Amino acid sequence: MTAPAERIVIENCAVATVDADGTEYPAGHLVVAGDRIESVGPGPAPAGLEGVVRRVDGTGHLLTPGLVNTHHHFYQWITRGLATDHNLFDWLVALYPTWARIDEAMTHAAAQGSLAMMARGGVTTAMDHHYVFPRGTGDLSGSIIRAAAGMGVRFTLARGSMDRGESDGGLPPDFAVETLDDALAATEETIDKHHDASFGAMTRIAVAPCSPFSVSTELLRQGAELARRKGVRLHTHGSETVEEEQFCRELFGMGPTDYFESTGWLGEDVWMAHCVHMADSDIAAFARTRTGVAHCPSSNARLAAGIARVPDMLAAGVPVGLGVDGTASNESGELHTELRNALLINRLGAHREAALTARQALRLGTYGGARVLGRAGEIGSLEAGKLADLVLWRMDTLAHASIADPVAALVLGAAAPVTLSLVNGRPVVEDGRLVTADEDAIARATREQARRLARIAGLTG
Ligand SMILES: [Zn+2]
Repeated sequence: MTAPAERIVIENCAVATVDADGTEYPAGHLVVAGDRIESVGPGPAPAGLEGVVRRVDGTGHLLTPGLVNTHHHFYQWITRGLATDHNLFDWLVALYPTWARIDEAMTHAAAQGSLAMMARGGVTTAMDHHYVFPRGTGDLSGSIIRAAAGMGVRFTLARGSMDRGESDGGLPPDFAVETLDDALAATEETIDKHHDASFGAMTRIAVAPCSPFSVSTELLRQGAELARRKGVRLHTHGSETVEEEQFCRELFGMGPTDYFESTGWLGEDVWMAHCVHMADSDIAAFARTRTGVAHCPSSNARLAAGIARVPDMLAAGVPVGLGVDGTASNESGELHTELRNALLINRLGAHREAALTARQALRLGTYGGARVLGRAGEIGSLEAGKLADLVLWRMDTLAHASIADPVAALVLGAAAPVTLSLVNGRPVVEDGRLVTADEDAIARATREQARRLARIAGLTG
């Protein structure tokens, strides 16, 4: 006989479930049993529940699904604040030589920093698109997965790769790329070693060649075949800048979306970062194939990439989630502030005051992200039977207390403090502090590794 599930009761809080109907309760409750949500509804929790190990008074709080980040590059945590006034291609060219010097100690510390910053701000599911694998520098993928497991955050490692160096017409220097065969073999090994396909998995792997201008056509093609043979998802960067569009037209005689389609890279098992420069026909192709998009508004602004057509994508039925993107192009590394930035950036322009609403922004950062990661049946909304990944946001302090609508307060207001976040029913944040890791120790380790990298890369003496 299995032991009865331990229950956590959260009540007296506003609840935004982000279910299909957008159900909200001004004062409601949620019951966690083990790693699942058992019930959610208006008013106090049902009386007479057994096995209640914790009762949380959520007065003055908003309860939402945990935030889901759909695009990131953790290693960039230790190269923040560089090349601060560059467009994408110039920024990449400036940073590749430094990135090519990373090692396992650096990727581990940087992953911890990236994860800690997001988890503290309500992220319960993270992803890392890691595509820099210098030879002989240790088990970089393992170091990143270890960091996520230690933090207690649900995680997808998108095993990236680059095989189109400068001598093959690509953007990265030759010393920063792998061979086609090495990239495919290492990706397959990572899937075999770490991918967990089960319901509630804490670690998933995706196949993730970096971008059209840093990988060969063959790597895209064979990467897609590998992913489908293994039953894992596919991720890459797409249609980020006008320069990328020009690159594709010159080299392949077509725009990025057609190029992706020709290599097997449109489909409901694919999600792509950015998708800024999309014609109506590109959006229609994404909608038809259910290809997902990771919208990264701050990074797009930082690199002057442009404004993704998120309202048009949503209207067409394209799955859209939010992404921080790497912190070399979004130094804050927070996802909860991306809710606000997504709303603001998509409203830029005349008569766009309702282009994206506060509730749509919250949906992008929760359910939308879950859908893009292929996990909408497990996470992304507060519904009975789903995994207990949730955030209790404090709304009764100076920053938010005078705003009556808690969802408007969360999205439009200052970054809200997290009183409690749970992943699989287990606390990750309590009273604004991580309980699964020592933030101060991580801050020291990331500073040390950032200095080490700067020294090795010759940025400092
Ligand atoms: Zn990126």
